[in-house]
Amino acid sequence: MAARTLGSCIFCKIIKGDIPSLKLIETEFSYSFLDIGPLSKGHALVIPKDHVAKMHELSDDYLADVLPIAKKIALALGVENYNILQNNGRIAHQEVDHVHFHVIPKPRASHDVG
Ligand code: 5GP
Ligand code: ZN
Repeated sequence: MAARTLGSCIFCKIIKGDIPSLKLIETEFSYSFLDIGPLSKGHALVIPKDHVAKMHELSDDYLADVLPIAKKIALALGVENYNILQNNGRIAHQEVDHVHFHVIPKPRASHDVG
């Protein structure tokens, strides 16, 4: 399926390169980059290149590409402790209405928090 984009969406602009980002891994279906407001050092986001707001709206080919990228990021960061977080809807704390998966390392020491 051809990727949908939304002109006013921050994450669609990041995929296009209209808003700069610290890119990690890019594939045909997905794009990943560092979160601008990291909860810990290395906090990353993995997003599908198809603009939909919520995970259940995403087709399986886009969805299937996301987790292997999250896995590669976790391996590259070398973290043993981390959370994968994915929010859907305001009440569930979703702020950006383009599906995204957080990879949030849980540092051992407080000085690692950045
Ligand atoms: P949500 O609360 O929707 O699950 O998380 C949205 C995330 O997107 C937040 O962690 C926030 O810091 C991040 N974010 C919002 N705008 C930008 C941006 O322009 N660039 C980057 N790199 N991250 C962003
Ligand atoms: Zn979008």
